[in-house]
Amino acid sequence: MKKGLIALICVSVFVTGCEMVKPVASRFPVSAEQAAGRVFFLPTFDDGPVAQRFVEAGKPYPRSEDEMLADLYRTLEVLKSRNITAVFYVLYVQHDPDAPAWSPKHSEDAMRRVFTRGIKAISDNGHAIALHCSDHDEYRKLFLARKAAEDDLKRLMAELDRTGVAYYRTWRVPYGGMRTFMNEQQVAKKLSLPLRNWHIDSHDWTTNSDSTNFLKKAYSSDKKWSDNVVKYLQRDVARTKRRKECWRDILFHVSLRTSSHLKQFLDAIEQKAREVYSKPDDPKFTWLSFDDPIRGAVLHDYLNNESTAASASKPSPASR
Ligand SMILES: [Zn+2]
Repeated sequence: MKKGLIALICVSVFVTGCEMVKPVASRFPVSAEQAAGRVFFLPTFDDGPVAQRFVEAGKPYPRSEDEMLADLYRTLEVLKSRNITAVFYVLYVQHDPDAPAWSPKHSEDAMRRVFTRGIKAISDNGHAIALHCSDHDEYRKLFLARKAAEDDLKRLMAELDRTGVAYYRTWRVPYGGMRTFMNEQQVAKKLSLPLRNWHIDSHDWTTNSDSTNFLKKAYSSDKKWSDNVVKYLQRDVARTKRRKECWRDILFHVSLRTSSHLKQFLDAIEQKAREVYSKPDDPKFTWLSFDDPIRGAVLHDYLNNESTAASASKPSPASR
């Protein structure tokens, strides 16, 4: 009986949800002429604007609003100094009435203020904003209901709308949809959200607060952790060489460790990519610089979407 149940669960894992999001062709492809033989590397950051360690319910509680945004600001500083455009899949951290009164996490007003400050900073620094989630803990539930995920995303979009900042309604599912049986494609379809996972996985998440105790212990040393990240980055840069898209996206998180080592990681990607794309007929490695004439086109292609600013400026069918 038990064996039958396990077999049934295993089969349903393959047949239904609990799988990596399937890649689809973009509706806004960059043409070969536009790309001009280049391959654009796009760092992406999940879980911000608030530092990853403060995202989930419970401890540690942040002592100040600045403490919640310090890792984001450090990340933005590095990207600015290197002239690199990135994409932030953002998360709205809800306030927690059980948090101590001295922590900003106790107050809904404070959490909205922090979110707005972070979102504006990302946008003012020239990066793209897209969707991750509101309640990150939920996406670890094996039997997360589709309705719960839809409500969670609607909440995130309502909070983003409140900031007045333009963003892309493109969804990166927490954990790539790997921790739940829910079929993310159906949620995405219902809300008309293109899905985007990642090509290059930095594995910077091994010591995030939502990782396992085993991994946290295995990579507690800073050197061991950063060596491991470099290893995975360079492995995936090589593995993704033959992909058809003109972009490669790299999974990172807004965290203390990643922001502190980001320069080293960007160097490692650059070094490996120049080695991998070195033949005369290979595409030429490049970051997506802020002043690149096709910067917007690459973001549209990658996010398979237009930003909310573009859709807001279009006349609605009724007013035509
Ligand atoms: Zn996440």
